[in-house]
Amino acid sequence: MCPRHGRVEVIAGPMFSGKTEELIRRLRRAVIAKKKVQVFKPKIDNRYATHAVASHAGTAFDAIPLDHIEEIWQHLSPDVEVVGIDEAQFFSPRIIPLVQRLADERDIRVIVAGLDMDFRGEPFGPMPGLLAQADEVTKVKAICMVCGEEATRTQRLIDDQPAAYDEPVVVVGARELYEARCREHHEVPGRP
Ligand code: ADP
Ligand code: MG
Repeated sequence: MCPRHGRVEVIAGPMFSGKTEELIRRLRRAVIAKKKVQVFKPKIDNRYATHAVASHAGTAFDAIPLDHIEEIWQHLSPDVEVVGIDEAQFFSPRIIPLVQRLADERDIRVIVAGLDMDFRGEPFGPMPGLLAQADEVTKVKAICMVCGEEATRTQRLIDDQPAAYDEPVVVVGARELYEARCREHHEVPGRP
């Protein structure tokens, strides 16, 4: 009897924590093991390269960009054994049962990477459901840009000031950026 390989692995953490690096590391090892690998990402994330997942450290792996997670069925090879999904927080909640089907019905090893929390420190999109159903969860940490300790949060800054809890997602004309922060230095003015 063939051993079954279907399983769900989730890599979660703040920005700059090495989620994509860790995803790429696992995918490269699967390629070395001669597994058939496919990688997907939401189209929303077009920094560095559109047809690849790319880490802040410069490593990359070919990926198919999707507008909606359901499009995965049009691209899935019949013989695929390992599926990687990066930036999973941007997909709709329909990714949760879909990932389960890939593992249960297609016997695929699914490796999902995504932000566990948004800049407010609240659960991000479908990530709670993905984390709950995972066979294995890896929480990775970044380095806090204030104190140098381990960082578990993503700080949003608008014109160098911490973004308020109810700040709109797009602030027209403002210079905004994100950095990793520890729990102590993560600031969300106006958080209830
Ligand atoms: P993620 O996918 O979680 O955003 P990446 O895998 O793209 O993370 O990038 C991780 C890399 O980012 C690290 O190996 C390091 O080179 C770089 N980096 C930049 N800023 C930080 C930081 N504050 N903490 C840790 N790594 C950082
Ligand atoms: Mg990443």
